[in-house]
Amino acid sequence: VGMVRGKRSLMTAVAASTTLAISAAGCTGSSAHTPKPTPSASGSGWVSGSVSASATASSSQWSAGRSHPVADDMYPRYGDPATDVLHYGLDLKWDPTSTVLTGTATLAIRAAEPTNRFVLDLAADMSADHVTVDGAPVADTHDGDHLTVPAGRQLAADATVTVVVTYHGTPHLVPAPVTRPDISGLGAQVGSDGGMWAQQEPYGAFTWFPCNDQPSDKALYDVTITVPDGWAGVSGGAFQGRTESGGNGVYHWHQPNPVATYLVAFSIDRYREDTATGPHGIPMTFWYLPAEADTVHKLTAQVPDMISFLEQRFGPYPFPTAGVLFPPDSVGMETQTMITFGSGGKPSDLLHEFAHQWFGDAVTPTTWSGLWLNEGFAMYAQFLWQAAHASTGGPPATVDAVLQATAAPVDQALRGRDGPPGHPLPTHFASPNVYYSPALMLNGIRHAVGDPAFYQLLNDWAHQHAGTNQDRAAFVAFVNAKTGRDFSAYINAWLDSPTTPTIQPPGPTGS
Ligand SMILES: [Zn+2]
Repeated sequence: VGMVRGKRSLMTAVAASTTLAISAAGCTGSSAHTPKPTPSASGSGWVSGSVSASATASSSQWSAGRSHPVADDMYPRYGDPATDVLHYGLDLKWDPTSTVLTGTATLAIRAAEPTNRFVLDLAADMSADHVTVDGAPVADTHDGDHLTVPAGRQLAADATVTVVVTYHGTPHLVPAPVTRPDISGLGAQVGSDGGMWAQQEPYGAFTWFPCNDQPSDKALYDVTITVPDGWAGVSGGAFQGRTESGGNGVYHWHQPNPVATYLVAFSIDRYREDTATGPHGIPMTFWYLPAEADTVHKLTAQVPDMISFLEQRFGPYPFPTAGVLFPPDSVGMETQTMITFGSGGKPSDLLHEFAHQWFGDAVTPTTWSGLWLNEGFAMYAQFLWQAAHASTGGPPATVDAVLQATAAPVDQALRGRDGPPGHPLPTHFASPNVYYSPALMLNGIRHAVGDPAFYQLLNDWAHQHAGTNQDRAAFVAFVNAKTGRDFSAYINAWLDSPTTPTIQPPGPTGS
């Protein structure tokens, strides 16, 4: 997720509670040097050969959706470690007048451990009308935000079943465990005009579909969204086209790479679609309201430069498609392959969400105490972009200078207010501590190993772990193995210390 947005900036949010005077780096986004994407008619037709959203379970077909779920260490209320969803087939229908969402969710589930039931997350607002397991009706229990589905028999570990849930209801936000002022709630929210969009980190996907709502269970997705004529339904992955059904439009989306629930894009509005091509032919789609076309096009014109900037440092863009959906609100969220972004955001904020495609989306934290693995890295990329796009006329900025002006002066106060970045307060989710402090840690590694080795390290981290979940122990072991030095004490100090660490990274001789 992006830094604090909206009326109060991060700087005012920090200053208000720490009384620190902070000067922001003087950075502006670059003007566009790339051609505008060429708009094309949406709905170019259904692409054959896709996986049907109602297909039945096959453990081999969806093996890329296999995960090793664990109980989350910060928000254990959501997610079930016995449940490994391999694939979600979501057939959704939206009525903007009644604001009722009707869905059929077909889940291919692997028993991650021996079990006789699966506990899914589904908001109490959503009525589970009918539940089957391998085609047989079962008596589910819907208690609060938990839907318990009896398997009907004892399942051995690795057994796979198909759970189908038909449901309906009007989505509502649930409270967010945050202190930042720009996040009012989590999940899908319905606008006054019948539009809808979702922001669901660290949880909240359960407000619009039954799911194992925790980061350690990645899965594949096929989503269809049926909407009245004039509306569009947007999710992540490849847009496979619009079909017609009884006067409605049906939007087809296919995610070929595993996705954590918090990274599934979802919005319905009167969107227009632009198609464009990114670096080396990456297909891109942008979804926006016609009234915002001018501001949107100023941002989307810079997207090819953003992807190229990141590829030069962190290696190839990690997915086959890219895109941005622009809901009519202030948000910056790195939903996988289809970023959710308010059109009033700055280019450096959008660059941050693209950086997450490598750090957070391709490689995802196992649990939420690893949020620094997302935000520290995306923030570091954002600082690099800000340094490279410093205001014209002034001396060229360096990432060191940007960090000295932003993160370094507040690190100590953030640790005291929000917790050390490796142990953030659960009620302070996505506070600046998990952005700034690990960015400073990464900069120390860069100075210790030099730019080429540093960028190769982050490139390898993203690409050698793409599609998986990782944690602190894996990162420390990876850095140590790649550099031949022991960074354990250095990294742990930066993640654990209640005060700004003074420890130096190990030198070339391992000193
Ligand atoms: Zn972020």
